[in-house]
Order: sequence, then structure tokens, then C-alpha cells
Amino acid sequence: MSNHVFMRPEEAFPVQEKEPVPGSCPKCDAKSLFRYPVLSEGGWFLVVKCQKCLHCTERNHWNRLGHIVLATDTLRGMKKGD
Ligand SMILES: [Zn+2]
Repeated sequence: MSNHVFMRPEEAFPVQEKEPVPGSCPKCDAKSLFRYPVLSEGGWFLVVKCQKCLHCTERNHWNRLGHIVLATDTLRGMKKGD
């Protein structure tokens, strides 16, 4: 049985493609982990969140300008000096 309950979007982009992530939420055990970019104070992050309880299991820096990918963002081996 599945009823679709849409949570209040917490990002600026409610319509966002989300990539399903295998595994279950460590908090509520729901198998509804999705990876998608969010914009927060520190810039863009690529997060893995449970869509049921919104527990965040992963959070990584994403492209500086979000959906706009700069060539410099794709360069590897360049570590920021903090
Ligand atoms: Zn959960």
C-alpha cells in the first residue's frame, strides 16, 4: 500500500530530479533515500535524504553555482586551500 504524501518542499526548487539511493534510512528505516542538490547557507550541497522523515545521511559540496557547472568545477586534483 502506498499513498503519496507530498512533503513541504524545503528547497528553492520543488521540482527537482531526485536520484534514488539504495538502502534504508538509519532513522526511520524507510527505503526512500534520494540524492539531490540543495542550496543552503554554505552554498550548493549534494545531499542524500530520507523522503519520509527528511533525515540527511549524506552532505557533500556541489558545484559552486548549482546547476550551472563551471569548467573549473570539473577540474580534478585541485584542492582548495581552505
Ligand atoms: Zn527516514
